[in-house]
Order: sequence, then structure tokens, then C-alpha cells
Amino acid sequence: MHTRERAAVDYGAPVTMRVCILKAPRVSDDRVDELIGAVNREFVPYGIRVTVPWVRPWVRPAQSFKHMFDDVMRRDLEPPCDRLVVFADRNAGDALRGMLMPEILGAVDDTTHTRGLVIANRATLNQLLQSPEGTAVHEFYHLLGCPHAMSLSKCYIRIALVKRQFARDPQFFPGVRADGRLLVTRDAANSMLRRALDR
Ligand SMILES: [Zn+2]
Repeated sequence: MHTRERAAVDYGAPVTMRVCILKAPRVSDDRVDELIGAVNREFVPYGIRVTVPWVRPWVRPAQSFKHMFDDVMRRDLEPPCDRLVVFADRNAGDALRGMLMPEILGAVDDTTHTRGLVIANRATLNQLLQSPEGTAVHEFYHLLGCPHAMSLSKCYIRIALVKRQFARDPQFFPGVRADGRLLVTRDAANSMLRRALDR
């Protein structure tokens, strides 16, 4: 899991990252609190506190994970949201398919690292292996700009870098491009993702 470097990095002053939530009907408010709580416990060492400016109902657009994720990627970030995350649920049909194929439990866009989706309910066998809390923590590391390929030691340094830019301009917790460069405004993050989706 974590490496010794985590404590060696200077993360600067505490900040708040504003994560707006779209919630499927069967995901309870308590569930939202539990998942955000798990992320906040994990992020204490970095001095990052996640707050939720709003939770709005989300109507699942289609059956496949791809369509669900596409829906959140196509929505702009509006102020004051730094990130937009869907807390989705699974239905009986998904659970059945889960017996037949590996399930995807969450995702974050790797173009800007600003949009995410987490399966918030414990419903299938696979989720015995990774809890929704574990999934949420994993996906929120991506929302800080850490891709899979990156070692945790490098991830700590990136978190510190993103926080330093945020301290300079608290309007927007920066997005992170696939090449590691920062998207320092909400508009830049929105237009970058829109361009990527239109290609
Ligand atoms: Zn991942």
C-alpha cells in the first residue's frame, strides 16, 4: 500500500476540494456520507478535505457501464464544483451479468481527471472483493490526478504539486491532463474533455 515517502512530502496548507454528486435513486444519503467519509479519512495526511456542494438525482441513462460513464463525462463542471462524480447503483440484471463477466466498479476520465463514477451499493459477489468504500477511495486518488501507471511515491509528489497550484488560484482545484500538465481553470477542464469526446 502506502510507501514511506508519503510522510516525507510537504503538502502545504489544508484545502477543500468541492465534489458535486449525482446520485442514483437507490443510493441513500447515508451511503453518500459513508463514501465521502471514507475518502476524507484517507486524505487526512494530504490536508485535503472533500466537501459536497450539492447532491442531485441522477437518472441512469442506459444499461451499459460505458453509457453511464459517457453521461457524466458529457456534463460540464459548473461552479463551484471542482469534480463531478456519479454514485451509481446496480440492478438485478447487472448482478446477473456480474456472475458472467468481470465487473467494473468505478472509473475516472483520464483526459482531465475531473469526472468519475463509483458503484455505490454493495450488490454483487465482486463487491465482496472490493467494498464501495475501497472503490471510492481508489477513484478519488484518480481525481487527484494519479493514473494507474504512476507509483504511489510519484502520486504523493503530484498531489503536492496540484495543491500548490490550487493555493495560488483557489477558484478551481486543478484538473490533470494525461501528460501530467495541469488544467488550472474549470473552463479549460470543460473544453479539454469536450474536445476529447467529440473526436
Ligand atoms: Zn483505477
